[in-house]
Amino acid sequence: MTIRRALLCVLTCSLSLTAQNRPAPTKTEIAPGIFLFTTPAYGDVGLDGNSIAILSRDGVLVFDTNGTLAASALVLAEIRTLTDQPVRWIVNSHWHWDHWYGTETYLRAFPDVRIVSHEKNRELMMGPALAFNRPFMEQQLPAYLQDMEKRAAGTPALKPLLDEDTAFLEQKKNVHLVFPNVTFTDRLVIELGERHIEVLNYGRGVTPGDTFVYLPKEKILLLGDLIVNPVTFALSGFPTEWLRVLEKVDALDATTIVTGHGPPLHDKTLLRATMEVFRVLLREGKAAKMKGLDPDQAKEAILPGLHDLMVTITGDRPPVNEAFKSQLVDWYLHRVYEELDGPLTDAISKIPPS
Ligand SMILES: [Zn+2]
Repeated sequence: MTIRRALLCVLTCSLSLTAQNRPAPTKTEIAPGIFLFTTPAYGDVGLDGNSIAILSRDGVLVFDTNGTLAASALVLAEIRTLTDQPVRWIVNSHWHWDHWYGTETYLRAFPDVRIVSHEKNRELMMGPALAFNRPFMEQQLPAYLQDMEKRAAGTPALKPLLDEDTAFLEQKKNVHLVFPNVTFTDRLVIELGERHIEVLNYGRGVTPGDTFVYLPKEKILLLGDLIVNPVTFALSGFPTEWLRVLEKVDALDATTIVTGHGPPLHDKTLLRATMEVFRVLLREGKAAKMKGLDPDQAKEAILPGLHDLMVTITGDRPPVNEAFKSQLVDWYLHRVYEELDGPLTDAISKIPPS
């Protein structure tokens, strides 16, 4: 392929990648000049994390860049309708692919953009995270799509879902990953125009490098997946340290909390209920292990006592209750058990068999 053709491909391929007929993201102004963008799921196979733009008179900071270029391109298009200022800073909250695979969009539009994350996030993004995603991307998802293709042949109503799912896989396969080019250890302060932006890590929580943003003047917290509205996703977390992180987060003066997914929160009810679930699981998980129960038996024994907290968190909606039991209680408990066996490393643990 000649250089010209290669260049043309770079241009046209990227255009076709971003033109995915995705609906525009939903925009919520959470404070003057601070916008939360949310996007619909990709068929039944994927979703994006929340993406937040902090505008200022001297540039924009974007916290999390969605999971695909199609989504981040649509978010950037929205940002351009709000300001002429360039995006100067990106903050990546953690290594989960729904939060940072869209960064390339910003680097292409703003070659000088500084991409900040915790030093451990950068390490995980450059290797272990990719290894974690590979089986899903290269085996499970293609197999699922092949099967759906067969079913769609006899059930044409499945075709739109199949197209969306296929487009998601194409997006993930064709992304050029962009890694943080600025790392920090526990605190980085960005003065951006009139904004004072604190980029923080309080230790290991849901991941080894959880990076969150605190705006003390605006009393806003952008937490990434440190908690999720409504149900926190506890895969591969660090139970004891995570609770300590949230206790420190709780001590910050904030009136708006944006979690990694879901609508913004205007009080600390969900944060505190989630912390209380952690406390119960730490305490009772340890007792159950000493009694010789395995994590699944422990879960069954502990769940009835969590009923009221569950209802606070889920509103007692049945599918959300199921997510509470598996993604929060089950996954957190498995990690409680692992932690009791010895100090946890930063390695990404496998999804427990359900
Ligand atoms: Zn997420």
